Amino acid sequence: MFKRVLIANRGEIALRIMRACQELGIQTVCVYSTADKDAPYLKLADRAICIGPGPSKDSYLNISRIIAAAEIAEVDAIHPGYGFLSERPDFSRACRDCKIEFIGPSPEAMQALGDKVECKRTAKENGVPVFPGSPDAIEDEDKAVEIASKIGYPVIIKASAGGGGRGMKVCQNEATLRSMLRIASQEAQAAFGNGAVFIEKYLEQARHVEIQMLGDKHGNAIYLWERDCSLQRRHQKVIEEAPAPHIDREKFRKVCEAAAKMIKSVKYAGAATCEFLLDGKGDFYMLEVNTRVQVEHPVTELITGIDIVKMSILIAAGEKIPYKQDDVKIKGHAMEMRICAEDPAYDFRPSAGKITTWEPPGGPGVRMDTHVVTGYVVPPNYDSMVAKLIVHADTREQCLDRAARALREFNVGPIKTTIPLHQKLVANPDFRKGGVDIKYLERWLKAQQPTT
Ligand code: ADP
Repeated sequence: MFKRVLIANRGEIALRIMRACQELGIQTVCVYSTADKDAPYLKLADRAICIGPGPSKDSYLNISRIIAAAEIAEVDAIHPGYGFLSERPDFSRACRDCKIEFIGPSPEAMQALGDKVECKRTAKENGVPVFPGSPDAIEDEDKAVEIASKIGYPVIIKASAGGGGRGMKVCQNEATLRSMLRIASQEAQAAFGNGAVFIEKYLEQARHVEIQMLGDKHGNAIYLWERDCSLQRRHQKVIEEAPAPHIDREKFRKVCEAAAKMIKSVKYAGAATCEFLLDGKGDFYMLEVNTRVQVEHPVTELITGIDIVKMSILIAAGEKIPYKQDDVKIKGHAMEMRICAEDPAYDFRPSAGKITTWEPPGGPGVRMDTHVVTGYVVPPNYDSMVAKLIVHADTREQCLDRAARALREFNVGPIKTTIPLHQKLVANPDFRKGGVDIKYLERWLKAQQPTT
């Protein structure tokens, strides 16, 4: 087992990883930027090392500074968390070159699943359902038009190296497709250093369902079932839940089995998530694979009882996954609400600053993943999420009631947060019915706006 692990991240996920390490008897080294120098969780680490100023490119995204900190602190391994360097094959490779274990997949496995065209090919080979579209990157415009007319409009142009919802173009007809192809490729080249683009069928109405998986270094892979993350605003997830309401579980089991086979085929070690869109007919289409632990991992932990962060560390240390697929059982229902320092009453404008009132909820079935304490100052430099409120109950209905109760207890000030939005959502009859689509929240928010 590792003696000492460096956490190359900040905020709630840095604290989450620290907690997992401490329960495993591993010393922790936490890096931080000057913008985070007073962050309370740093005191819980065995050692905290400043790696640079606030801008991420000078600190949390700076590979050489993080590796230097790892060497100074003599750590055995680095956990990247989510975001920042977590999906960068060059970081995984830099760790390997420096004989530091990267807690996550090898650069090869990350590359194979991170590149969208390559991933789609691997998915197909393993029976994972993908959108109909161009099998490879598009070389020639006429070929693209031919494929589009075969699959039918609308189609979406995507960058093979894309991410973060950038560089995608929806085309309703041949003229737009022709004019957009070159633009999309140029934009992809500028944004990702790779101009390869492809097209696929665009689904007008869909739900977002993703499969959590674990793979180890001994060729094992299991799935921990799904999360439904359809409540989104600007492609950002707002509430995630597990299990997904109203899905055909027997049909879905086959998708899960194929997804596990896919990560096995690239010798994947660590936590991975395969994202899908689910259409009105109950068919799944793969979007992409995230080669890291996800923000919403706690909902899966609550319904399966499996600690995903601890598993990622144990797997990196060479242990076998101690569960067989049949050991993974769904128990109850869980929901995560992302609490952000934003004002929902004013188009979600950021609300950074000092938190003088912080009264988090508690009681049965309530889990708070947060780095915030009273007096914490939300720095303006990073993601606005200040807490994840996760609730667990026997049924979905009880889970919603528990969420409403916990949100009522949650008192934060003077900064504004998204708590009032969540209170409305857990009481919303459409959401309570289950199965809303990914555009639902934006439609609903628009309808709330005064018409004058
Ligand atoms: P990124 O890596 O940039 O996040 P994804 O492939 O995950 O790209 O897609 C991001 C979002 O774009 C999805 O969550 C979905 O809302 C929308 N999207 C992507 N592909 C399609 C598609 N074929 N049909 C409909 N919506 C899509």
